Amino acid sequence: MEKILISACLIGREVRYDGQASTVEDGWIARWQRQGRLVAVCPEVAGGLSVPRPAAEIEGGDGTAVLEGQARLKTENGDDVTDAFIAGARHALAVARREEIRLAILKARSPSCGSSQIYDGSFTGQKRRGSGVTAALLRRVGITVFHEGEIDKVLSILGKLEGRPR
Ligand code: SF4
Repeated sequence: MEKILISACLIGREVRYDGQASTVEDGWIARWQRQGRLVAVCPEVAGGLSVPRPAAEIEGGDGTAVLEGQARLKTENGDDVTDAFIAGARHALAVARREEIRLAILKARSPSCGSSQIYDGSFTGQKRRGSGVTAALLRRVGITVFHEGEIDKVLSILGKLEGRPR
């Protein structure tokens, strides 16, 4: 059975920076959870950050730029939390490798989990194109990353992956 890496906050874990979850009410996600197909990770908690914690945004680029040392993660007060975000991304990658994961559903717009858009580092709600640090690292090794609004795409790829031998 093909496993799917998923942001822990999407399945009810209260691990967001504000101590809340971002639970997605979706029949497929509920079914995959019952099947034992979902592998939950919260990169920011795994990287050593607390719940709750100050919100952070990527300053000067996206997750790829962070991995290349060209952008940093900062809280609104200017604290640099880049190392924790990179450690969390590496943890997520280690879990994905252990579980032979090829697909991930990660929370949209998060500086760790965002896969197509992130906040722009100004803490004004403005967004920019790009992915978070964990999504960028997973993509580097060939894992296909979607957000919670793309369940139809996950279904399509899942069908193809399970329809052919590994
Ligand atoms: S790091 Fe990812 S899993 Fe953790 S709270 Fe943020 S979006 Fe959710």
